[in-house]
Amino acid sequence: MPNAVTSSPELLPARMLNEYVYCPRLFYLEYVQREWAENLDVVEGRYVHRRVDDAGGRVPAAEAVTSETAIHARSVEVGSEELGALAVIDVLESDDGQLVPVDYKRGAAPDLPEGAWEPERIQVCLQGLLLRANGYASSYGVIYYAADKTRVRVEFTPELEARTRRLLADARALAASGVAPPPLVHSNKCPRCSLVGVCLPDEINHLRKAEASGQAPVAEASPELAPPLEALPAPSLREVRRLMPARDDNKAVYVQGQGYTLGLKGDVLEIRDKGQTVDAVRLLEVNQVNLFGNVQISAQALRELASREIPVLHLSYGGWLQAVTAPPPHKNIELRRRQFQAAADPAVCLRLAKDFVGGKIRNSRLLLRRNGRGLSSEVLAQLAALRAAAERSDALASLLGVEGSAARTYFEHFPTMFKLPPEDTPPFDFTGRNRRPPKDPVNALLSFAYSLLVKEMLVAMLGVGFDPYLGFYHQPRYGRPALALDLMEEFRPLVADSVVITVINNGEISPSDFIERGGAFALKPNGRKTFIEAFERRLDQLVTHPVFGYQVSYRRVFEIQARLLARAIMGEIPRYIPFVTR
Ligand code: SF4
Repeated sequence: MPNAVTSSPELLPARMLNEYVYCPRLFYLEYVQREWAENLDVVEGRYVHRRVDDAGGRVPAAEAVTSETAIHARSVEVGSEELGALAVIDVLESDDGQLVPVDYKRGAAPDLPEGAWEPERIQVCLQGLLLRANGYASSYGVIYYAADKTRVRVEFTPELEARTRRLLADARALAASGVAPPPLVHSNKCPRCSLVGVCLPDEINHLRKAEASGQAPVAEASPELAPPLEALPAPSLREVRRLMPARDDNKAVYVQGQGYTLGLKGDVLEIRDKGQTVDAVRLLEVNQVNLFGNVQISAQALRELASREIPVLHLSYGGWLQAVTAPPPHKNIELRRRQFQAAADPAVCLRLAKDFVGGKIRNSRLLLRRNGRGLSSEVLAQLAALRAAAERSDALASLLGVEGSAARTYFEHFPTMFKLPPEDTPPFDFTGRNRRPPKDPVNALLSFAYSLLVKEMLVAMLGVGFDPYLGFYHQPRYGRPALALDLMEEFRPLVADSVVITVINNGEISPSDFIERGGAFALKPNGRKTFIEAFERRLDQLVTHPVFGYQVSYRRVFEIQARLLARAIMGEIPRYIPFVTR
């Protein structure tokens, strides 16, 4: 087609104008921050487009089109520098010398006087304007609703044309502004929005509202002492809806059989030992793949997993994260730019570090309070005082000292959370935290639990678009996922330590599940399997979010907290609120 242009970042796709009319924030997240997520609507929409997405048919030059010209072309790209827009028209038809863009939509035609929703009318009108800008006549378009096979005619009236031009200018101005619009307030558009889990509309609005009413902690106003979580008003049920699924139904795959290989057979991931399939899982049901030690994976499986945005984590046999095979980095470069700016600002680093450490001490205290036998009230008072001291710290060095004292106190009393074993069972000895190598079974369990937790944090960080190697509390060191370690602090007691206590108290793991070599302890293969299962059970467990009041799994909480950290760094919410169970 003459004058047609290929994709250029300067030209705004008509599909994006549709998103802008639906919700300016959705447009910004998709077009500027390059966020993308699939929900049922997106998948069904792709299915509806499967035929028209194959380019085909001939479109003559504008001057060659007459009233006799018959055109039926699919997936026609048209653009205009003058309009600053482009479109891929699903189907282009001719009607008495003019071109008619036909836009395919999933769903049924709405019962509206205009025949179609405004975002769809604006989108097809922009397609008509683009055709005109390329010299063709076009006075109307058609929206084809696949569910009821209805064609709705949309006249390009002067009013619709003027509104389309104005909205196009507004959308371009918003994209250039560099500022994401706030979420819609309690809109019924959000539950159907594919980016609801990225946007967190009710959550962000709740935190912004709390800030505006003076109830939320505002970092700039009180940088030296972050108010406690109780300072946040509890949301009403109507205020914060849980708009994303409570848990991810897909599962993490762990392969630890040495010499095993992973290959692909159709849409199934096969785990093989010496060529024999020992296990198989459908790709549709996988959310991450963990390979321990000497496990091979085929290039074909790696490519397919990457194309589905499923990360593959390569760990040493002992559980240390060594490599990640993931799709190309998230396209939200703006977040990484702000992350680097924030990490270069000592005040921001200190404020976030206090949030992470404060959350960790509060959760450690809570775990002891709930599970410790014969614990003196002084221990709890000491931890409460250390939390307050952490929040008063004026430098990372002093915060490190406070965190160290709190960890010593906590681990000194850690064994009070073990149930007394039956008489004929040897007890677990634990006199304090040690590592590299762990010198007793409990430390071996703790180290393994932390290594599993850090890779979960890394996955959450990559999914949100952070650089996981640049932290605020943990300082950069070669190969250390410092930001994953930062966010992990508040979850160490709630997830890792809690699983350790559970497997010991339930008798799932006993001292005979360990091997000792030169004073270093490690789990035997069956013990590792049991521990991984307990860890996954914990991640799948529903927990009430202390700020938003709804129930989600811990794995979902990791993602929510990572997104809140991103929103805080982008300046959308006043500050990061650590996850602290009440
Ligand atoms: S969730 Fe709601 S506010 Fe957020 S982008 Fe979607 S429609 Fe807009």
